[in-house]
Amino acid sequence: MRRYCDACDREVDAQLVRKREVFPVKGESIEVVSDVLECPDCGESIFDEELDGQALNRAYEEYRLKHNLLSPGTIRKLREHFGSGRTVAALLGWSQATMVRYENGAIPDAAHHDQLVRLKDDPDYIRLLLRQRGSKLKERERQRIESLLALRKMDDPDVDPVASLATVFRKYYERGISSTNFDFEKLAAMVQMFALVNRELVKTKLQKLLFYADFLCVKRYGYSITGMVYIHHHYGPVPAHHDLVHWALLTANVIDTKPFAGSYEGEVIVAAEEPDFSLFSEEEIEVIQGVAGYFRDFTATKISEFSHEEPGYRKTGMKEIISFDYARELKLT
Ligand SMILES: [Zn+2]
Repeated sequence: MRRYCDACDREVDAQLVRKREVFPVKGESIEVVSDVLECPDCGESIFDEELDGQALNRAYEEYRLKHNLLSPGTIRKLREHFGSGRTVAALLGWSQATMVRYENGAIPDAAHHDQLVRLKDDPDYIRLLLRQRGSKLKERERQRIESLLALRKMDDPDVDPVASLATVFRKYYERGISSTNFDFEKLAAMVQMFALVNRELVKTKLQKLLFYADFLCVKRYGYSITGMVYIHHHYGPVPAHHDLVHWALLTANVIDTKPFAGSYEGEVIVAAEEPDFSLFSEEEIEVIQGVAGYFRDFTATKISEFSHEEPGYRKTGMKEIISFDYARELKLT
């Protein structure tokens, strides 16, 4: 490598050698083995910006290991988990520039690092941050973090999602809001039937299909199939506790998801096994297959728009339970 040697005052064939070097990091001397260029004639080091940058990064890495600090990659993933740099900086009370510096390799000061670790591990801390600074976030950003918190609770291995679902839906049954006690196996088989008929079933469409099957069964026969209740949401009716429902279906291996190859990013729901038809009466199978067939070629947007016209949707407010009394006015027969 032809390089200019200051000491010899001419170009020389610089040689790459490994050397122990000491860098100051946050007031500490950190020793690393690094590659440096040397002049073959006088033995002086020749500065190389790229090699120097690599050595400095290694020193930072060494410092992080020594003090058990989060890496820039981990900080970035953690931040992305919660939202944009702007959102998470606002939540932590930092400037966005500070967040960018840490993601780019700067070592966080101790207080900031402590905040990041708690953001990663401590849901109570996130709730505290939301109370303190939630008003600085956009409504959508805040809701997203709240739903992450709800999901995180479900990461607890001691929590059985199917049992949790049965518990939350039993309350609606006991209060008379649902006439059927929740039956996870029926929900599972119904979802699988929908996934078989719909080749590109996305979650928002599935939620509407479940609504229509349960409501149509109430309209025709006076009882619902799954025992779930439904609430008014942005994109139409969805099962109450829909995040928990989706999570239970996934963890109980009822469904798998694969990336959606369409014009927007999402997931397609596929059945993880054949549905158990023996769980249903003939009239229930007719209801499910009728709903599946009717909406088979509807996109998620189209079924969402269709469901917005339902009296049960029009007459309820955001997040309100849609009473089964509205089944009489359902547009399907
Ligand atoms: Zn030299």
